[in-house]
Amino acid sequence: MAASLRLRGAASGLRFWSRRQRPAVASLAVVCSRSMASKTPVGFIGLGNMGNPMAKNLMKHGYPLIIYDVFPDACKEFQDAGEQVVSCPADVAEKADRIITMLPTSMNAIEAYSGANGILKKVKKGSLLIDSSTIDPAVSKELAKEVEKMGAVFMDAPVSGGVGAARSRNLTFMVGGVEDEFAAAQELLGCMGSNVVYCGAVGTGQAAKICNNMLLAISMIGTAEAMNLGIRLGLDPKLLAKILNMSSGRCWSSDTYNPVPGVMDGVPSANNYQGGFGATLMAKDLGLAQDSATNTKSPILLGSLAHQIYRMMCAKGYSKKDFSSVFQFLREEETF
Ligand code: NAD
Repeated sequence: MAASLRLRGAASGLRFWSRRQRPAVASLAVVCSRSMASKTPVGFIGLGNMGNPMAKNLMKHGYPLIIYDVFPDACKEFQDAGEQVVSCPADVAEKADRIITMLPTSMNAIEAYSGANGILKKVKKGSLLIDSSTIDPAVSKELAKEVEKMGAVFMDAPVSGGVGAARSRNLTFMVGGVEDEFAAAQELLGCMGSNVVYCGAVGTGQAAKICNNMLLAISMIGTAEAMNLGIRLGLDPKLLAKILNMSSGRCWSSDTYNPVPGVMDGVPSANNYQGGFGATLMAKDLGLAQDSATNTKSPILLGSLAHQIYRMMCAKGYSKKDFSSVFQFLREEETF
């Protein structure tokens, strides 16, 4: 925990760092032996809603896995399938020289890397460590620095696309890190996603992800407001959605993930907002956007408002519902 706090404190000054990524110190010989050993075990830490189907897609591509999750039940089906489950992230690092982490928050990632039994305790020189969690870009940069000191390579590779896309191998990965290592990362990420995009130095994958989710939150709230207003004006919600989707108001929230129950099948609004992308995770991502905007002195008027709306939703019992439940939230606030 002391290491976590040290990392966290250091992260606050990261905005003053040079934009150029320093080259990794891992020796070329070690890196080559790792990237050529294509079906050697891959470590996977964090087998939750997203990590579970992502790890399964690696298995389908023939990669043996070394598994760890703080919640032992999350590992059970992998153990039953014959994969090796270990008792801490350090043990994953001892047995695998390519590791993917898929964890909820910055603090969880810091714990998995720098905690008492973290990856950094046993990481091998030349290892490739890919973090697909959505976390603070400043924390990604600080983790990269710690990893580099150990002679290994760190890349941030957050994803867009929900649980369905993770299952069907349709995720988009936004990758930040040393460009020479991108091909090695792509080999694994391509087993879990249909788009793997190189964004630049460490932290730029997170930057792209945070911008995307801020826009998604704003467009989801806007779609919910427009749909609710139309319904109150007497329009049939299915008809209104059809018109929006052939007009200039069309967006992903209106045509693929409509928040109004009964408009579409197979989306969380058709299932009492169960599954999907939780309001808590959206509030977390908007908090990251808010911090980044403060650090870069960028105005995000609507992004800040969206952050407050999702925070309020979490406080009012929506934390476990999909983020499209903002439509239901607006209906309940209508008396204002
Ligand atoms: P989740 O909470 O379902 O799963 C996270 C897993 O990590 C859990 O099994 C938990 O036990 C484990 N964990 C937590 N701390 C740990 C630690 N220190 N060491 C080992 N394991 C630990 O979360 P998720 O929905 O899978 O999301 C993971 C990340 O992906 C988040 O950053 C989220 O913002 C991002 N994301 C999620 C979605 C989505 O639709 N759910 C979509 C895109 C991106």
